[in-house]
Amino acid sequence: MTQNYRITLLPGDGIGPEIIAVAVDVLKVAGKKFDLQFEFTKALIGGAAIDAAGEPLPANTLDTCRQSDSVLLAAIGGYKWDSLPSNMRPEAGLLGLRAGLDLFANLRPAKILPQLIDSSTLKPEVVEGVDIMVVRELTGGIYFGKPKGVFTTETEEKRGVNTMVYTESEIDRIGKVAFETAQKRGGRLCSVDKANVLEVSQLWRDRITKVGGEYPDVELSHLYVDNAAMQLVRTPKQFDTIVTGNLFGDILSDAAAMLTGSIGMLPSASLGASGPGVYEPVHGSAPDIAGQDKANPLAQVLSAAMMLRYGLNQPEAAKHIEEGVLQVLEQGYRTGDIMSANMNILGCKAMGEVLIQTLETI
Ligand code: NAD
Repeated sequence: MTQNYRITLLPGDGIGPEIIAVAVDVLKVAGKKFDLQFEFTKALIGGAAIDAAGEPLPANTLDTCRQSDSVLLAAIGGYKWDSLPSNMRPEAGLLGLRAGLDLFANLRPAKILPQLIDSSTLKPEVVEGVDIMVVRELTGGIYFGKPKGVFTTETEEKRGVNTMVYTESEIDRIGKVAFETAQKRGGRLCSVDKANVLEVSQLWRDRITKVGGEYPDVELSHLYVDNAAMQLVRTPKQFDTIVTGNLFGDILSDAAAMLTGSIGMLPSASLGASGPGVYEPVHGSAPDIAGQDKANPLAQVLSAAMMLRYGLNQPEAAKHIEEGVLQVLEQGYRTGDIMSANMNILGCKAMGEVLIQTLETI
């Protein structure tokens, strides 16, 4: 029986419209093969929304997202809007979207594709086979804890304050997402904290251990964040799924991503407890190459694959798209950002076409 899904598309700015067009074509082809029907609705966000509607996240964009099964976002931002006040800049649209959909879990995979192993700055024998998922708590911790601000003390000295706070329920809900993610992967979860120094981390460790009781099929371990950072560059292969708080996750997810060395290949997902998740590439709107048909659409395509796996529970269709991407790289096709010697350079559109031809044959 055909499964129907409503997908909100947020092309945003810069290369956004070019790369999202490729992902839509890819989804349609995968849909045919797996009997999935997508109803796509485009909405405005970021600079494009500022130009058309005077604000970075118009109310009808949020409504459209809420009424859909999943949201596929490209990227926002550009020089044109850089001088606007912060609440009116494109980035405010992104923050508003995350808050509006209560997206508290950020999933960032870092997978080494054998065809791109030379893009990594680490030795091939260290990164070969790396396949890590970092699950980062996104709406709590030190970025949001109160008190925060710069205050003046009685002695007229300035004092900057941020507060790292997690409640039991905040830890439990990110723990649940992380264990369920590990179940869909290699079945191992490493929780990263600083429980040797921070009380908030001691609570984090206790709760994650408690939630783990409900997932006996997932092997749980714990690391302090300083050790985790070391291990990530020393022997990254030891990790399957990592769960951590907002600050540690911000740093570790970027470090893990850079094991792969190629920003145009990295997808991500942001999930809430219920309702639609947002799937988007890690990179920005690349205004330096916008409108020139030079963008790599594969991070966007892999974000659509994540949407199929984590948002729509269609792992077979996700795997099909991921396999298509691998085969296209195997055939020697590259966009400029991942180009190396003796490969065929393609533009954004042509990369999409080659991928679709490949998907139709596998
Ligand atoms: P960026 O990721 O847009 O670009 C960094 C470099 O990588 C550029 O040289 C760009 O050409 C290249 N690049 C990025 N994606 C590529 C792709 N798919 N194919 C080929 N090359 C690619 O980061 P930036 O230059 O720091 O930021 C540009 C704008 O994007 C800013 O306005 C920033 O605020 C915004 N931004 C948005 C997001 C988002 O939407 N989530 C994330 C980061 C930055």
